[in-house]
Amino acid sequence: MKVLVSDKIADSAAQALKDMGHAVTIKTGMTPEELIEFIPPFEAIIVRSATKVRKNVMDAAPNLKLVVRGGVGLDNVDLDYAKEKGITVNNTPTAASLSVAELTIGHMLSLSRYIALADSTMKDGKWNKKQYKGHELSNKTLGIIGCGRIGKETARIGINGFKMNVIGFDPYVKECNDPCIEMMDIDKIFEKADYISMHLPLTDDTKHMISVDEFKKMKDSAYFVSCARGGVVDEKALTNALKNKDIAGAALDVFEKEPNERCELFDQDNFEATPHIGAQTFEGQSRVGDEIIKILKEYI
Ligand code: NAD
Repeated sequence: MKVLVSDKIADSAAQALKDMGHAVTIKTGMTPEELIEFIPPFEAIIVRSATKVRKNVMDAAPNLKLVVRGGVGLDNVDLDYAKEKGITVNNTPTAASLSVAELTIGHMLSLSRYIALADSTMKDGKWNKKQYKGHELSNKTLGIIGCGRIGKETARIGINGFKMNVIGFDPYVKECNDPCIEMMDIDKIFEKADYISMHLPLTDDTKHMISVDEFKKMKDSAYFVSCARGGVVDEKALTNALKNKDIAGAALDVFEKEPNERCELFDQDNFEATPHIGAQTFEGQSRVGDEIIKILKEYI
């Protein structure tokens, strides 16, 4: 097949595609207009999150039969239109779950022990030892909102690594025994959890599902982390919650606008940020590559 790789994938995966006999072209960083010019001869396109495969791209691609999204969300592919055109769309949903879960726990540790803040203030010449008395994760209550693949992986690390008591909310998961998550109403999560972590997609139902009222319902000692999708959390409400000390701290890996602009959130000492790097590990990317190869083999 003539395969276009329009976002970065592991070098080993690109090589494996070539070894399978495909005519592989790697061209990343194209503008939408450039992609429309470039795509006509290709039968398959491999994308991550940057390339948008919308109606205009599919209309410009008469030979396109397969879209492979390396990663979880499919919000950058127009699924209905692909179906209408008979184009198969696949993703690699499990490959990076562990990477995202580990980053989530990393943020919890960093917030609780002021790791990011201590690092930046030390580099500014300050020795704030007394100000940075923190908390242990061990034996605390972890609330998971969205108990799918990443939510469960995060729960597993919380249970096995820190003996955390894990509680969860997910309208589509009534019971979860592996790992053991006690399912309950979302308001109960806000009431009980010392750490709250979001692991659900952005949909019409989940847009700004964590806003002013929800932050007010959380413990003022709670730490809030979202490595889910920008827009699930109302960033203005989060800024105010941090300013008003409604919660103890928060970390985001995902933003309503990416790349985002500097905003008031970044002026809060009890806030830390990472630039959507949840899935960015060598191990996770290598598994994404393996799954892409598998999808192509199965398709053929
Ligand atoms: P998943 O589909 O396995 O799990 C999502 C869960 O959310 C499901 O169990 C679903 O029932 C639940 N859910 C849906 N609506 C809900 C609601 N209103 N309230 C509570 N739960 C709800 O997906 P996953 O692989 O676990 O990924 C979760 C999210 O993580 C993805 O949708 C994606 O947005 C995000 N993600 C981020 C990164 C990153 O780099 N930070 C990487 C991969 C995925």
